[in-house]
Amino acid sequence: MEVDFTMEVEDLTEIRAHLLQMRAEVLAESERAYAASQSLGKDGVPDIGDMSSNSYSQEVLMNLSETQRSRVRDIDAAVERMDKGVYGLCMRCEEDIPARRMEVRPFSRYCVDCKTEVEKFGE
Ligand SMILES: [Zn+2]
Repeated sequence: MEVDFTMEVEDLTEIRAHLLQMRAEVLAESERAYAASQSLGKDGVPDIGDMSSNSYSQEVLMNLSETQRSRVRDIDAAVERMDKGVYGLCMRCEEDIPARRMEVRPFSRYCVDCKTEVEKFGE
């Protein structure tokens, strides 16, 4: 029996929603930390009301830890690969990344073998 790894469009829509959810969670986490760091304002209330939403989200992004930032980058890259139609393919050997791995880490860029190599020798 032949196994078809090609992901259905519906699956992708679902995975994309999941990825965007993960991204929102990372940002929300950082946002809470940022609000907490700003809460030393005059009345103890985070004073973020007068910042434009654009500079506010810039500030939030600046406050991301390195881990959070790379997570957001991974997620953005995964969504971009969906748009390009190469989602789920290893960026190194261009083989399908096993569906199980994609389920656990939907933003995986490499198959397990390549990931190991990349960690050892760099991208
Ligand atoms: Zn690979």
